[in-house]
Amino acid sequence: MCGIVGIVGREAVSGQVVDALRRLEYRGYDSAGIATLEAGRLERRRAEGKLSNLQLKLLQNPLAGAIGIGHTRWATHGRPNETNAHPHATERLAVVHNGIIENFRELKAELAAQGCAFETETDTEVVAQLVSHLMRTGLGPVAAVEAALPRLRGAFALAFLFAGQEDFLIGARHGAPLAVGFGDGETYLGSDALALAPSPTRSPISTRATGPS
Ligand code: GLU
Repeated sequence: MCGIVGIVGREAVSGQVVDALRRLEYRGYDSAGIATLEAGRLERRRAEGKLSNLQLKLLQNPLAGAIGIGHTRWATHGRPNETNAHPHATERLAVVHNGIIENFRELKAELAAQGCAFETETDTEVVAQLVSHLMRTGLGPVAAVEAALPRLRGAFALAFLFAGQEDFLIGARHGAPLAVGFGDGETYLGSDALALAPSPTRSPISTRATGPS
């Protein structure tokens, strides 16, 4: 189980997301990735291996979004390569996940039968596709996530970023930790409070655990 970070910020957050992922490196990982919104559109950068590989991609191809999610992956389902690295995305949303979706095979078969095309070998992609599918039926982001969560078996922490939603992330957890931090005009999600530790230039962040798992 590796690292999740989410930041709703006031200026470009990709540097802060990578810094927070670095504070989670102690947990171990095999690949890393980040998603932000550029003019409301989802943009991703992902890389196999060390965070420095992701940083190189960000240097070559920067992200300017003021909201973002990031992930360090310890592969449980699917090879540790760039395709399987999180965030996983559809045209509507991007999601990062720690843990295991135990019933992903059944969900994948069900969604494939309804026309969803899968790109990765991961259990996590079913979450992206399931929530997207529910949104296509007319549900908004919150209602779609609320409808999707009871269908997931296993232990998980999740952070969702939605196209066109510049000031809004959804975090959810069941049997895995996810901390929420409140800064000065900024809000954070993280796998642990360490991920939310403020940089010296930022005001202190209060953290609290989310509701019962
Ligand atoms: N089960 C997911 C995967 O293999 C998440 C693993 C993790 O917690 O990093 O991609």
